[in-house]
Amino acid sequence: MSLTIPPHYLEDASGYQGHADELFTPANEEELAAILRRATAARVPVTIAGAGTGVAGGRCANGGYVISIERFSTISVHPGYAVAGAGALLKDVQSGAAASGQFYAPDPTENASSIGGNIACNASGSRSFLYGDTRRHVRALRVLLMEGTALSLRRGEPVPFPVAEIPMPLSSKHSAGYWLKPGMDYVDLFIGSEGTLGIITEAEVTLLPAVQHLLTGVIFFADDDSALAGVAAWRDTPCLRMLEYVDAGSLALLRSRYDDVPKQARAALLIEQELEADDSPEIDAWDERLTNSPALYEASWFAATAADRERFRKFRHALPELVNDTVRRNGFLKLGSDFAVPFHRNAEMMAFYREKLEADFAGRYVIFGHIGDAHVHVNILPTNQAEFDRGKEMMNEFARHAVALDGTVGAEHGLGKRKAHFLSYQYNHDQLEAMKTIKRRLDPHWLLGRGTLFPV
Ligand SMILES: Cc1cc2nc3c(=O)[nH]c(=O)nc-3n(C[C@H](O)[C@H](O)[C@H](O)COP(=O)(O)OP(=O)(O)OC[C@H]3O[C@@H](n4cnc5c(N)ncnc54)[C@H](O)[C@@H]3O)c2cc1C
Repeated sequence: MSLTIPPHYLEDASGYQGHADELFTPANEEELAAILRRATAARVPVTIAGAGTGVAGGRCANGGYVISIERFSTISVHPGYAVAGAGALLKDVQSGAAASGQFYAPDPTENASSIGGNIACNASGSRSFLYGDTRRHVRALRVLLMEGTALSLRRGEPVPFPVAEIPMPLSSKHSAGYWLKPGMDYVDLFIGSEGTLGIITEAEVTLLPAVQHLLTGVIFFADDDSALAGVAAWRDTPCLRMLEYVDAGSLALLRSRYDDVPKQARAALLIEQELEADDSPEIDAWDERLTNSPALYEASWFAATAADRERFRKFRHALPELVNDTVRRNGFLKLGSDFAVPFHRNAEMMAFYREKLEADFAGRYVIFGHIGDAHVHVNILPTNQAEFDRGKEMMNEFARHAVALDGTVGAEHGLGKRKAHFLSYQYNHDQLEAMKTIKRRLDPHWLLGRGTLFPV
């Protein structure tokens, strides 16, 4: 039967493939509830598909029904907030907000993702350095449970049953397993639960007044140590909302699309700072910072217009795209990390990555991402099966090391099916049982998102 389901409903951006018996695209909550009741009665597993940009295999069904939320796509924008159907695309929420002089702060790089998917993964992005993850911007949710019950939840409403406390890592970002805390808001239980507790149908999210003045730049360096020194020196710059890193391997990939990347550059930092005015004293402060740093100041890029800023956004977005294309072309699944550590362990984690990667994958890996939060993505680019297998092992070593440094095994992508085994690196048996107790309460027959977070 799964042959009749268009393949894009069964895979995600990591290349992982699922299988299912039936596809549903309900138009409203009544239709969705009827499908869920039918599945519950027949004990059929159900997987929720958002826009398919996930990279952990969470939306790739493990048999049963796949339910796409794409038709829940309405968006209404109000002063201070927007109400969006879970299938609405991030880019449409962003442009709706912009048209009203506002902005939606979480900025996962992939803006073709859905709001429901962002909430299910507790996604974050470059601006999360200043504004935090998606969780912080959710004001209310509508959720359907497997038995067809609809919940209308506003922030501040507590979970109506006992919840154990799960310790949090010390990294500034975390999205691996359920976020559990006695007295917690009910909405927080569903945020980051990766489609395993309920189906999000609608969300009310905070909008902020649009920022009028921004300083955006791509600052190049001749070596990696200089770039990392820049991160440490500039991280506390006021109102800096983006501090992203790109290593030498990443620049090599980007040169295939951007021939103006300076030849001598071996690393880059992407920065964006909110200013009070276009002639803010911060402009001169950056001039001084860069003059007194080893940055390739003359060769670096600074945005003078919104079009420049859009070009830099595309430059940053091109990187994961190029990585995913390269890995697929080589015939493998994406081998990318999503670990984060507390910032004071950043240098240690980066050194660990480098040492291991240079030993086994010199010239066949890239590191980029949200370095302001000590959260970079390592991507290994295997060329044969033995390298892929070794890369998988290495990702396990990195995950354990991140936990040893008080960090997280999953900062923003979720663990899905491909990384579900990491959860036991982070949490002990009792903590995992506490999560499973919640799962059993809301999905007693364990039908929703089977294989995601908890390996089958
Ligand atoms: C080029 C590229 C760049 C990326 N950059 C970032 C980044 O900077 N930051 C970041 O956080 N992520 C990033 N991602 C990953 C991805 O965009 C996010 O994980 C996104 O939140 C997934 O949303 P989606 O709608 O595509 O969800 P899907 O991939 O369809 O699903 C993801 C998970 O959410 C669940 N889900 C989806 N919708 C619902 C719903 N309505 N109710 C309940 N569960 C649901 C699914 O079951 C699945 O477990 C990137 C991906 C790509 C390809």
